[in-house]
Amino acid sequence: MLDRRQFYINGKWVNPAKANDFEVINPATEEAFAIISLGDQADTDAAVTAARNAFQSWQHSSKSERIALLKSIQTEYAKREEDIAQATTMEMGAPITLSRTQQVGCGTGHIQKFIDSLEAFDFEESIQGFPSEKIIKEPIGVAGLITPWNWPMNQIFLKVIPAIAAGSTCVLKPSEISPLSAYVFSEIMHDAGVPAGVYNMINGDGVGVGSQMSSHKDIDMISFTGSTRAGALISKAASDTVKRVTLELGGKGANIVFADADEKAVKRGTMHVFNNSGQSCNAPTRMLVERSYYDEAVEIATTVAQNHTVGDPATEGPHMGAMSSGLHYEKVQNMIDAGIKEGARLVAGGLGRPEGINKGFFVRPTVFADVTNEMTVGREEIFGPVLVMMPFDNEAQAYELANDTDYGLTNYVQTQDQEKAKRAACAMRAGMIRINGDGGAGPSPFGGYKQSGNGREGGKWGIEDFCEIKHITGWTP
Ligand code: NAD
Repeated sequence: MLDRRQFYINGKWVNPAKANDFEVINPATEEAFAIISLGDQADTDAAVTAARNAFQSWQHSSKSERIALLKSIQTEYAKREEDIAQATTMEMGAPITLSRTQQVGCGTGHIQKFIDSLEAFDFEESIQGFPSEKIIKEPIGVAGLITPWNWPMNQIFLKVIPAIAAGSTCVLKPSEISPLSAYVFSEIMHDAGVPAGVYNMINGDGVGVGSQMSSHKDIDMISFTGSTRAGALISKAASDTVKRVTLELGGKGANIVFADADEKAVKRGTMHVFNNSGQSCNAPTRMLVERSYYDEAVEIATTVAQNHTVGDPATEGPHMGAMSSGLHYEKVQNMIDAGIKEGARLVAGGLGRPEGINKGFFVRPTVFADVTNEMTVGREEIFGPVLVMMPFDNEAQAYELANDTDYGLTNYVQTQDQEKAKRAACAMRAGMIRINGDGGAGPSPFGGYKQSGNGREGGKWGIEDFCEIKHITGWTP
């Protein structure tokens, strides 16, 4: 059993104020393999005080000092890639191949993009035609960072790195389901020489440390990724101290497939839903297909799901791993059950574990056809390997169906007609639109419309989220 009870506060590993053990479960075996502590108010206060004290000097650090620190973190991260991959697989069930490539790769990609973005970032701006007026971007102060379990390094890098790049200091609370990769990340931060208190990490659950951070008077901002449910609670808890709250929440991504889509479009969309066992907020989980191509598309998606293997996350391969937790497994089962009961046509997968597997939180790759937006599986985020499909008759109806959702994170369109693709991109209400499978590679803003959240992570937009904006007049140029 791994002992990971300590917290990282003010540049040191420290014991929690009070013992409060919590077992970390390997979702593939259903067995505990590590123990962490859930912090309480005294731990939260200690971490916030460390960050507050460190802010006094870190806010005045130069851009070149921050870039040098980011490069040092990048170097240390590269040395620990395998440790991060192993921790991720054990704690949340991602297959080791996916952990080594995509999960670890998120961190590698984000840090380089933030280094580039910081190098180009203007902390000062002028207003054209008004030379005595100046805009200065200053770090917001102490940032509380609350992250989920599905892409642990992705979300940690998207919050910690821009906070530090902006000159803010931070307290990270990773998900209690996936705390081990965050533990390795904290060792990396230590080895990279991050000044004491600039980065702090405490473990805890939402009702405990999460709520304490949201309402803390010495935290200036909360950056949260997770469920819409928790995002709403955090916003309420933060309101008394009027702190900034940025939210990256759920999604129910529409994938509009026109009849003239390229021949790989349906397969690509279906595989994307199964990636990371469907535990991605930006997954294209609602496939809207033009009626003349609908039956063929359902057949393709069915075959893809039936051929998609599920297996032990510890072994290499392209197979799908486990759901992150028993609770989440139950949620996904309940959603599949609701789909069947509400009359969606089950064409692949279904309830229970995949054939031959009788232990672990494994789900069958599942496809429902003839779904409507009124059905639970058409409206609610499932966050599992479940694709829902529905037909449409014309462009106007496709956009109406795509936008008929509480969410607006990532939507997709597949057509070989570029003008139609552009019309679709402009018609859909979402923070990100992907045309014909182009995932993008540049430093870009990640975030959603409507109940998918507010704020944008990544690139210069991510750094700006951790800045205050000051307007000064009477400035002699
Ligand atoms: P969750 O909201 O239960 O937990 C996320 C984090 O919030 C954890 O660290 C948890 O401890 C904490 N938390 C929970 N309740 C809290 C509260 N009341 N106050 C403060 N903190 C609280 O979500 P989850 O089950 O860990 O993650 C899955 C959800 O996250 C899905 O709905 C998914 O769509 C969403 N998500 C969104 C994005 C995005 O970028 N938009 C990315 C990943 C996940």
